[in-house]
Amino acid sequence: MPEISVKDQVKRLVDLQKLDGEIYRFKVELIEKPALIEELRKKFEASKSHLLKLEEKLKGVQLKRKELELDLKAKEDNIIKANGQLSQIKTNKEYQAKLTEIASIKADKSIIEEKILLSYDETDTVQAEVAKEEIVVDGAEKQYLTQKKQVEEEMMLIQDRVKVLDSQRKQLLPGVDKVSLQRYEKVLAHKNGLAIVPVKDSSCGGCYMNVNPQTINAIKMHDQFVVCEICQRILYIEDDL
Ligand SMILES: [Zn+2]
Repeated sequence: MPEISVKDQVKRLVDLQKLDGEIYRFKVELIEKPALIEELRKKFEASKSHLLKLEEKLKGVQLKRKELELDLKAKEDNIIKANGQLSQIKTNKEYQAKLTEIASIKADKSIIEEKILLSYDETDTVQAEVAKEEIVVDGAEKQYLTQKKQVEEEMMLIQDRVKVLDSQRKQLLPGVDKVSLQRYEKVLAHKNGLAIVPVKDSSCGGCYMNVNPQTINAIKMHDQFVVCEICQRILYIEDDL
């Protein structure tokens, strides 16, 4: 193969850069998109675990009420039993004592009844919280699943597009000088997929820093690759190719 002029090498690298720039952006998307889905999944999982906690709380309240109801039943039994004992009591003193005992059990009973009423109120409150959170979980799950599907489809399209770009890239490679290619690829890997950039209004198209007139002259000479002193990207001038 005859030696390729620097100007032609630069032209070919510019063509290659068009593909590589696109490939790079797509590859970034392929990394970022799953992270977005992971974010939504976490949000969904968090609301789900909040719901589980509320359901546990509800169970706890209901269990506590069952205990209170058993207590209440025991007090009622005790009252019946004590009332039954009244008729067998012989002395007035014992009779008075039994009446006091019954009054005391009744007082305990009304405290328990009060607690049971409060427990019903608490059940209503927690049940409302559960119902509200169920809607949140449902929404978060739908959002997660919908976006997941959408992103998966987008990623498949991107992967297909990258395949096409990769094969177009392979077709360009034989025309590119090996040493130039190695140099270009090294910069490409270290500079966010942008290795060769135009100089516009005396600024580097990669880092936007000023490019001095000597450097611009050197680019126009076309006898070697000229790189930006700041970002090390290969420079070219669009109108000059
Ligand atoms: Zn630069």
